[in-house]
Amino acid sequence: MPQIDVYVNVNYVANHATMNALEARLHYPFGDTLPAAGESMEVAPGVRWLRMPLPFALNHINLWLLRDTAVHHGDVVEGWTVVDTGIHSPATMALWEQVIATQLDGLPVLRVLVTHMHPDHIGLADWLCQRFEAPLWISATDYYVARLGILGPTAFGGARAASFFAAHGLNSPQAVAQIEARSHYYPSMVPALPMQYRRLMDGLDLPIGSTTWRCIAGYGHAPEHMALYCAQRKLLLGGDMMLPRISTNVSVFETEPEANALSLFLDSIDRFVPLDAQTLTLPSHGKPFVGLHERIRQLHAHHAARLNEVLVACRASPCSALDVLPVLFARAMDMHQTTFAMGEAVAHLHLLWFRGDLQRTRGSDGVYRFHATR
Ligand SMILES: [Zn+2]
Repeated sequence: MPQIDVYVNVNYVANHATMNALEARLHYPFGDTLPAAGESMEVAPGVRWLRMPLPFALNHINLWLLRDTAVHHGDVVEGWTVVDTGIHSPATMALWEQVIATQLDGLPVLRVLVTHMHPDHIGLADWLCQRFEAPLWISATDYYVARLGILGPTAFGGARAASFFAAHGLNSPQAVAQIEARSHYYPSMVPALPMQYRRLMDGLDLPIGSTTWRCIAGYGHAPEHMALYCAQRKLLLGGDMMLPRISTNVSVFETEPEANALSLFLDSIDRFVPLDAQTLTLPSHGKPFVGLHERIRQLHAHHAARLNEVLVACRASPCSALDVLPVLFARAMDMHQTTFAMGEAVAHLHLLWFRGDLQRTRGSDGVYRFHATR
């Protein structure tokens, strides 16, 4: 299975398995109002919300339009910065045509900013950048991983992914064959990328229009995700790092098989703690919300509870990642979904392992199993 297949589709699992039971503690200032297809909704002066469809159970992504200016040959040009682009599909392109014709006040896109390299965020970046001769802004790590991803089978997945999942218990001949066979998913959703980019880095203050946004790097979900915070206006473009309803996918993949992705994720969301309590978070999925600090606490509590359940299971008997799937995902999954949940299971086991709560051994069958040390 290609790495990116997992990225997108674990959201499918998360969508069903890890809905936020405490969502009512968050405040949605716009209630249930959503922007209509191909239209935008103003959420703050000069900040417009677009919602694009996705062909998954997680059926939408939010994109943002920020009023911006640029200087061309000494002239100030009015226009927009686009934050994230939607997946590369005829449906999304048709909606973009409608947005361009009716929602941009006749002004051009001046730059395309992408929070991270997952296909629903970066899929149409090349198309938009070319159309408006606009630069792509993204973290260096995500830019280069995306460039690798579009090379296809040689980049991610295939046999390496199959042996990674087999080492974590998913080793039936049928499973291994299925995973080995899938290897062209990322380029199918991200067929091209701009060959040049502008680099987003943690702590960078980026002027957009009349305001300044600070880049906040986040780890554990994508190689180097960038959220942006405008202190002056108390707005956070949270990307996938701060979602109100579903928990962000946090997975270990074959390229970095000993990653401690969940620890990275939990440390990363704490970087939002210093932000203003009244911050309006603009997430990539779900609705804009106030209650950032509540949501940070909820995510810590959610993962602490899952980690405890995994630890309890590993006290009863040594567990592989496959063994703990029923602990983490309380519903039956088919073979396809099972593979998607494996990365999350490994992430939970690894946090406990690196913390010293679990010890890892490899059986004569080649499978890693984790047992509790206390
Ligand atoms: Zn993502």
